[in-house]
Amino acid sequence: MSQRELTILGSSAQTPTRERNHNGYLLRWDREQIVFDPGEGTQRQLLLAGRSASKITRICVTHFHGDHCLGLPGLIQRLNLDRAKGPVHVYFPVEGTPYFENLRGAAAFHEGTSLKVVPWADGATDPGPAFTLSARTLQHRIPTLGWRIEEPPRRHLLPDRLAEFGLEGPVVGNLQREGVVEVHGRRITIEQVSETRPGQRFAFIMDTALCDAAFELAADADLVVCEATYLTGDEGLARRYQHLTAAQAGRIAAEAGARRLVLTHFSQRYPDPGQFAAEANEFFDDVVLAQDLQTVAVPPRRNATPSGASR
Ligand SMILES: [Zn+2]
Repeated sequence: MSQRELTILGSSAQTPTRERNHNGYLLRWDREQIVFDPGEGTQRQLLLAGRSASKITRICVTHFHGDHCLGLPGLIQRLNLDRAKGPVHVYFPVEGTPYFENLRGAAAFHEGTSLKVVPWADGATDPGPAFTLSARTLQHRIPTLGWRIEEPPRRHLLPDRLAEFGLEGPVVGNLQREGVVEVHGRRITIEQVSETRPGQRFAFIMDTALCDAAFELAADADLVVCEATYLTGDEGLARRYQHLTAAQAGRIAAEAGARRLVLTHFSQRYPDPGQFAAEANEFFDDVVLAQDLQTVAVPPRRNATPSGASR
């Protein structure tokens, strides 16, 4: 099983339906497990998806409309009950702090797992060794942040080139540390025996009208999760309530150079969700129509960019 994958916990806008839970997503990214927008019922959906709450490392809330946050009280208490190691980072738009505090204190419990509460504004970033998490303000009726995860590019040694230059043993370590070595009077640089592989990128775009930030979040992303509340026939409603249509989500993915698009957050007014995929497919090929409890892989890494200057 891939170490980087998204599990859909819920995919319905506004209210749960018979087929779809309130919003909720779990991104597994190596050792991290990040929950996005825990709607009502998230705790049970985790159970049904076979995911353990105690492994959650971060929670990101785009905004405080109920379908994006009403699962927080249960989820926070579950972290405590399961003795999650923590600290669990919780990120949300700074203007939503009173709502967060209300939800956190919605019922009596003993708070053992430490939460690192991180109220954020547009452009905030949290750089880490594995990836940088960043936020951009989206265009919705209340303050809303979209999220982006970006892994730094990595250099990989190429065994055939090392062999070609006759490099083996401790000298390879020296080359990695110093960037250059001299062997038998010949100068060899790290660029000659390696290539740079781009890091992977993930974007989470929820509840917004079409805006520049949505395109910026999705730029060159391997996996984009994007709301598609409406179909094009109801574009007027989308504009009025500051949501996206499936076609607009497809446009964002295409123009941003993304690789895979997960459509979700569907209005229950439409009986046939297949139409969402059809509309997005007008602009973009790799479209996944979210279904609850489905797991979507982050596509494999992009091809490497050779960095050897000369051979
Ligand atoms: Zn909303």
